[in-house]
Amino acid sequence: MKIICIGRNYAEHARELNNNVPTEPVVFMKPESALIRDGKPFFLPDHLGDVHHELEIVLRIGRNGKHIAERFASTYIDRIGLGIDFTARSLQADLKSRGLPWELAKGFDGSAILGDWLSPEEWQWPTLLALRLEVNGAIRQVGDTDQLLFSFEQIISFVSRYFTLKMGDLIFTGTPAGVGPVHRGDWLQGFLNDRPMLQCKIC
Ligand code: ZN
Repeated sequence: MKIICIGRNYAEHARELNNNVPTEPVVFMKPESALIRDGKPFFLPDHLGDVHHELEIVLRIGRNGKHIAERFASTYIDRIGLGIDFTARSLQADLKSRGLPWELAKGFDGSAILGDWLSPEEWQWPTLLALRLEVNGAIRQVGDTDQLLFSFEQIISFVSRYFTLKMGDLIFTGTPAGVGPVHRGDWLQGFLNDRPMLQCKIC
């Protein structure tokens, strides 16, 4: 199983980190050992510096495919949910400045939190999906699928030209603006169209 992540997929978030708005999807991966499920807490590592929350819509792939055409791409999604792409921001900035890959800042243990899933009947594809992150009850990140630079279909089609997608693979589709550091004791809640879908305690 692989975890594919899209960076800079909301223009406002790209700008808040002083990145250019990309002309094709920015892709990176996390290892399976990054996953946290079933409402388990996130243990903030001591050695990674500041860790930022990035709330994202996550797609779960329902069947195998490669070189998938955009017009068929939605049929490869069997669940939609929310996840948090935890990012060691200072470490990432340091790696970026030296032209090195981001894996250490993006793929560490616990860096991919998953919430609950919606089935196709529940999300009523392709209606607008709005995501919202609250930290200790205060709204930190808000976005919706109208703001995506690359649609779910474009992402699936693009990444499947490089990686065969397999049943159970996950795609983190990028984060809206408002990312920021988490602290021990924080309580994170993610909402998809106002429906609570993800909870995470920072320990
Ligand atoms: Zn992200």
